[in-house]
Amino acid sequence: MAAVAVIQVMSGELHAGPAVQLSLHDALERFYGGKVEPQRVRKVLVADRHVGVAQLIPPEDTGADLDTAIPAVLAQPTRRQQLLDALSLAESSQPIPAGWTVFTGELGQALFAAFQSSQWQKRIRRASPGYEACAFDYFSFSKQAGVVFRTERVGRCIHCNRFTLRLDP
Ligand SMILES: [Zn+2]
Repeated sequence: MAAVAVIQVMSGELHAGPAVQLSLHDALERFYGGKVEPQRVRKVLVADRHVGVAQLIPPEDTGADLDTAIPAVLAQPTRRQQLLDALSLAESSQPIPAGWTVFTGELGQALFAAFQSSQWQKRIRRASPGYEACAFDYFSFSKQAGVVFRTERVGRCIHCNRFTLRLDP
């Protein structure tokens, strides 16, 4: 996963916009198992130029590109961070901004709508770490929903239609 992120960073895909930056930051967060430190990423990418994808970029460009790229990627909060923030806003009855990347797409919009209810705790629950099933009735996710649950961190149960959030790094 991190290797994919590294290749994308080095090939300049980071200029493609917030969605790509978000998936890169997500991948780096998974790789490091938590918060991503800019200096660690830079060190890994620059340290060993004769290995792999670093060769794709002329040496004189690498430093400047990374100095722009890494902060841009890390400035985009990961899905995990966004979902944690949404939960804590909901828990303190504060409004959640609709424009967050995690609320784009059909599933994201449905999740956002569920958060608007004063009874949102009856529709949204965090998963136990390492556990892959609906947090309400333990109904297993379908294969496809399982993939979404792992990558996008939001699982929607086909049995009860409620949402389970995967928040472990
Ligand atoms: Zn369920």
